[in-house]
Amino acid sequence: MATRILAPPKKVILNNLRLLSRPLNSVPPTFVAAIPGQFAAFEPAPSAATTTKPSSLIDLTDPERLFSSVPTSKLIRSTANLHAVAMEPVVDLGIRVMQSKLIMDTGLVREAVLGVVRRTFYDHFCGGEDTVEAAATVRQLNEAGLRGMLDYAVEDAEDNSSCDRNLEAFLHTVESARTLPHGYVSFVVVKITAICPIHLLRRVSDLLRWQKKNPSFNLPWNRYSFPILSDLTPLYHTLEEPQPLTAEEEADLFLAHERLRTVGSKCEKYNIPLCIDAEYTAVQPAIDFFTYSAAMEHNRNEPIIYGTLQAYLKDAKERLLLKSEAARKMGILMGVKLVRGAYMASEAKLAHSLGHESPIHNSIQETHDCYNDCASFMLEKVAGRSGAVVLATHNVESGQLAVMKAKDMGISNGNQRLEFAQLYGMADSFSFGLKNEGFQVSKYMPFGPVDQVMPYLLRRAEENRGLLSASTLDRQLMRNELWRRFRAAVL
Ligand SMILES: Cc1cc2nc3c(=O)[nH]c(=O)nc-3n(C[C@H](O)[C@H](O)[C@H](O)COP(=O)(O)OP(=O)(O)OC[C@H]3O[C@@H](n4cnc5c(N)ncnc54)[C@H](O)[C@@H]3O)c2cc1C
Repeated sequence: MATRILAPPKKVILNNLRLLSRPLNSVPPTFVAAIPGQFAAFEPAPSAATTTKPSSLIDLTDPERLFSSVPTSKLIRSTANLHAVAMEPVVDLGIRVMQSKLIMDTGLVREAVLGVVRRTFYDHFCGGEDTVEAAATVRQLNEAGLRGMLDYAVEDAEDNSSCDRNLEAFLHTVESARTLPHGYVSFVVVKITAICPIHLLRRVSDLLRWQKKNPSFNLPWNRYSFPILSDLTPLYHTLEEPQPLTAEEEADLFLAHERLRTVGSKCEKYNIPLCIDAEYTAVQPAIDFFTYSAAMEHNRNEPIIYGTLQAYLKDAKERLLLKSEAARKMGILMGVKLVRGAYMASEAKLAHSLGHESPIHNSIQETHDCYNDCASFMLEKVAGRSGAVVLATHNVESGQLAVMKAKDMGISNGNQRLEFAQLYGMADSFSFGLKNEGFQVSKYMPFGPVDQVMPYLLRRAEENRGLLSASTLDRQLMRNELWRRFRAAVL
């Protein structure tokens, strides 16, 4: 039978959105038990008018302590790679070569290029070519006090046979995570775009959007009706009524659900959380549909399935609230990976081409505020034992605010339901700083054959290019530490 969660009245949403906007550095609230049929509410403690002083911040001033677990040879390689990607001409040339069809289609030249990429960018940003190499990298991370989020890098799937191949790879990844000591791998990552054909994700997203516009529109395959979209979610992708799914499409949808169920069950059996990445808004409603139907099945006792929320979206807070309320009513634990979001340019371009404003906050400050508010909300869920969060960010200020809030709320070090995460090869000083504060920290680690992770490498090259890029702090701290070690050895 259908499990239908009704959307709460608008006034209740607005009230709760105000509560969700309480800043990360505010005094911890007292948890007020939810009134049946209404949203769980958080009320400020009596002293809420005052703001707490930072009890402790992440110390990023002592490179010797930060990099104490990193061997000098690794530090030299990392510094060289980060300096190379900061040099605009090197990145321009690298990107042009990696994107050149002529070069990449010419056997020997291609092998030579891939060889260079493998020993430089690839080694820096990826965990290895297969599960054996990835497991070895996870062991190294663990020696440095960090954990690994295993992400087998795959392309979007076009048909069922590529989905089945990708499923095998994901299952193999879970098996490999199991062979490592418990806790070395914090999450296995799955992309729904790899286990459900991409055109079907678009179709399902269209149908969900159309149902949001016309609530009486019937979707027989949507048995769950978990709230996916909010009143702020843009619906401009779907301009006219979509055709219902054909029998073949419904069968494919069933197969995709079964694939996710197979990975989810394995993860639940081995108690290895599964994290589902977020993509662009054209397909995200379908991804959330998969995510929350899997959460309903696997998150009864422990948060096994984690969805991803992109705080750069204007509807992020409202959706978080709707979903957390639905999860509470269903008695399931909500797992959220919180990110800012990676498709800013393409989202804005699509919206403008359709004559609409961008779904992304108008200013970066609004994105920061939204991220911090959602983090605050989820930390309260962690403290109240009703949710779990991965704070996936390189933003030091967000990290500091979250650390303060977690400490103020008494979320103990080693709490399994709070994880910080940064990309492998990026923001290492920040990761070590968080670890030194006693928190669980993971590196999100893509692995797979070099040519398969090329699109990922191109994105990392873009992100780190320029002197003021995302890796500025790391470059500076690593250089200082190398210089200190050099002087200590020579003088
Ligand atoms: C572990 C991990 C997992 C991730 N998984 C995903 C995923 O599943 N899906 C996904 O989409 N992304 C994912 N990301 C990428 C993430 O969304 C960000 O692109 C990246 O981490 C940068 O954000 P930050 O929080 O580190 O903040 P910062 O380093 O402060 O970066 C801020 C960036 O936000 C962007 N930005 C956002 N909103 C605005 C705005 N309104 N105006 C101007 N600029 C804006 C700008 O590009 C700016 O550079 C992941 C990141 C990590 C660390």
